[in-house]
Amino acid sequence: MSKDTSSHSPIHVIGGGLAGSEAAWQIAEAGVPVVLHEMRGVRGTDAHKTDGLAELVCSNSFRSDDATSNAVGVLHAEMRLAGSLIMKAADANQVPAGGALAVDRDGFSDAVTAAIAGHPLITVVREEVCGLPPREWDLAVIATGPLTAPNLAESIRQETGADALAFFDAIAPIVYTETIDMDICWYQSRYDKVGPGGTGKDYINCPMNEEQYNAFIDALVAGDKTGFKEWEGTPYFDGCLPIEVMAERGRETLRYGPMKPMGLTNAHNPAVKAYAVVQLRQDNALGTLYNMVGFQTKLKYGAQAEVFRMIPGLENAEFARLGGLHRNTYINSPTLLDGTLTLKSRPGLRFAGQITGCEGYVESASIGLLAGRFAAAERKGETLAVPPATTAFGALLNHITGGHIVSDDEPGKRSFQPMNVNFGLFPPLDPGAITKPEGVKRFRGKEKAAAKKQATAARALSDCAAWLNG
Ligand SMILES: Cc1cc2nc3c(=O)[nH]c(=O)nc-3n(C[C@H](O)[C@H](O)[C@H](O)COP(=O)(O)OP(=O)(O)OC[C@H]3O[C@@H](n4cnc5c(N)ncnc54)[C@H](O)[C@@H]3O)c2cc1C
Repeated sequence: MSKDTSSHSPIHVIGGGLAGSEAAWQIAEAGVPVVLHEMRGVRGTDAHKTDGLAELVCSNSFRSDDATSNAVGVLHAEMRLAGSLIMKAADANQVPAGGALAVDRDGFSDAVTAAIAGHPLITVVREEVCGLPPREWDLAVIATGPLTAPNLAESIRQETGADALAFFDAIAPIVYTETIDMDICWYQSRYDKVGPGGTGKDYINCPMNEEQYNAFIDALVAGDKTGFKEWEGTPYFDGCLPIEVMAERGRETLRYGPMKPMGLTNAHNPAVKAYAVVQLRQDNALGTLYNMVGFQTKLKYGAQAEVFRMIPGLENAEFARLGGLHRNTYINSPTLLDGTLTLKSRPGLRFAGQITGCEGYVESASIGLLAGRFAAAERKGETLAVPPATTAFGALLNHITGGHIVSDDEPGKRSFQPMNVNFGLFPPLDPGAITKPEGVKRFRGKEKAAAKKQATAARALSDCAAWLNG
């Protein structure tokens, strides 16, 4: 039973994690009652240890809090502007962590739990929701996270189709395009094939000679790896092996797999045939990000950066995200959701948090914040514009609901993989937006990149404030 006296009927939020707690808070703060259904207390997950809302299952860090030149720091700042409960509880429970925002995990979860329990428009029900929300709930948000309970996951799968729900991610590293050395690499599709929507020059190719290839294989095999947690199992299937597992199967395996050189001619040196080639494929519509094709990996982050920078042309690569392979329930959002996170096949039903294909505590909470605001506006008969793509909110939302490029050349394979917020998701600055500061002699490379980040961050915060002010 709802404890509110508001004239609106309630919105149901399923899952009281980072996203669901934030969604519930935003809805209630908009004057609309909420019923928040959380199963912990009745049924646990493999990773959560408590019954507290917004429990952090692993690290206690919300990553960089630098809102002037770090994309996740900008997202923090935008969430604060939007009255985020998650950020308020994090700020109140900070522990020293240099430039990062880290929290006392119990204090943080207790603060969120107390705020939700104390809100007059929120009712918490401890129960497992075993299927899609009944039609009579009319407006609902599913925020059940990477470890969504199996019965609900199965119902989602039935509604969206078998290929639209994944239980593991297989993330290949993603590189900022501008950090790839095009004096070494070249654009070309294998055999110059012009696929649907392609040009014959859709991939960036990094050539290796035999010596470079052998050194690379040795480094891959020797690199430090992360293991799977016992409850995750080992989700290897032959179409999706970690790159280092392929390398361990035989020195030549990669040369006959994702690194095969066939059908590619080095534009800088056509006479010399590459011994192996690493291909990168455009990852977002803006063209600012490229992913390393077939390079899903369990190498530790430090090892990934070191080993992948051995690839010719990637010596100075900056990674928007590094690779991984985890147990992770998420939907194929770019095809299933509209721009306000509503399931196209079920009006009134939204998704939020990591199940939408964002990744991390902060990103999940921010998508919860947006889903909550969209749902509350719908209940009140109002229209809420989507946040501009120039904001961190908008850049992440846009990636999830459409900005990601769906691969046409690998039939049967899903190309949408979870993403955290990064500057590669933001539209480029207008020409002339950054100019050489007075008195500065050198203004290229790192200096210019830093100025670009600062200008992108400043634009985001200003556009976010304007969006929030209507
Ligand atoms: C093992 C592991 C380690 C991680 N480490 C990190 C890390 O170090 N840093 C980081 O930023 N991110 C990490 N993540 C990702 C992070 O946990 C998520 O980004 C974040 O918690 C997602 O928020 P969410 O609200 O979408 O899901 P969650 O926070 O998981 O919340 C989902 C909630 O839904 C509930 N629920 C599920 N099914 C049902 C149901 N049928 N009915 C009712 N309730 C249900 C769950 O009990 C849970 O409380 C990790 C994830 C895992 C699994």
